[in-house]
Amino acid sequence: MTHNTSVTDRARIVVSACLLGAPVRYNGRDKKTHHPVLQRWIEEGRVVSACPEVLGGLGTPRPPAEIVQIGGLRRVTTNEGRDVTAAFERGAEDTLEQALRHGVRVAILKEGSPSCGTSFVYDGTFTSMPVPGEGVAAALLRSHGIRVFSENELDAASAYVEALER
Ligand code: SF4
Repeated sequence: MTHNTSVTDRARIVVSACLLGAPVRYNGRDKKTHHPVLQRWIEEGRVVSACPEVLGGLGTPRPPAEIVQIGGLRRVTTNEGRDVTAAFERGAEDTLEQALRHGVRVAILKEGSPSCGTSFVYDGTFTSMPVPGEGVAAALLRSHGIRVFSENELDAASAYVEALER
């Protein structure tokens, strides 16, 4: 049987803006990935670009931030000790809103980021020490049923999207 999948039927995919080449990281740089799966999705018009930290109102460049647990609560602080949790949560909510508006069921987020990390983040000491965990936006998308992959899992993500459309 032949499927004629139109652009509007295709699964839309939220992708961290820095992976698409936008210079929105804390240091004013990007993390562009040239993986063929991502290139194909861009050509197919599936990609919804989002940077949770920019959506949350943080400037670029900005001080690096990491997740810490304070009194059992998840907080995000900069390396200067400023609490930026509210901006991170606002950005995560805006990212979720964009995802829901586009009917997104899959996201590709930048590993290790305090917003976008999918399996690890840094431990809050600003010493490049990874710990298992997820970023604020990744956690929120997952809690709403969106399947989140990192940029290191694009082949698995591609198989997942194909299975969704079968
Ligand atoms: Fe990239 Fe996410 Fe950081 Fe924005 S918040 S720069 S999209 S990793």
